[in-house]
Amino acid sequence: MARLRGARVLGLRRFSASLAVVALAACGGSAAPEFQVQGVSVSVRSDATFTQRQDFPARIERTLAVALHYWGGSWSSLEGVRVVFDGGAHVTCSGEAGATGCYQGGEISVTTSDAAFPYYCVEETVLVHEVGHAVIGDPDHTDPRWMDFASVMEQFQGLQGYAGPSEVPCPIFVSVWRHPPNR
Ligand SMILES: [Zn+2]
Repeated sequence: MARLRGARVLGLRRFSASLAVVALAACGGSAAPEFQVQGVSVSVRSDATFTQRQDFPARIERTLAVALHYWGGSWSSLEGVRVVFDGGAHVTCSGEAGATGCYQGGEISVTTSDAAFPYYCVEETVLVHEVGHAVIGDPDHTDPRWMDFASVMEQFQGLQGYAGPSEVPCPIFVSVWRHPPNR
């Protein structure tokens, strides 16, 4: 389970909302395309621009690879797992309202738009966090790695993001992935 925790620099994102509407009109509302990445099923229920670009499967694959390495997992850790990218501001998870991502029943769900601010690339979503649950479980976030992610952030510097028809930088906010121990 991941929730937005404060430190995002929201002002950087404010201009993107109107551009997102343009992208939605251009792409049309396609019905949940599905594809495989290294045997992982990926389902797209979002019109976020980055989910519509040709580089999306490759970007997912690299993001998963970096996350698996961080959590000490391998592709077999994600065998039978489905990843759902959801255009809603929150994903539906049992027992918790307002989550930006969750892992349950072999399914990782992540929002492509936290609150009013869309993500510009797959790397800055909570996917890295949820892969952790798929690999180590730990729903109470007791492992110290839930509060680190520095090595992951380093590998995601300088990436291209997409805001509507525009290519923009995709800044990484490590706070998106961090979660203190549940109390
Ligand atoms: Zn979590």
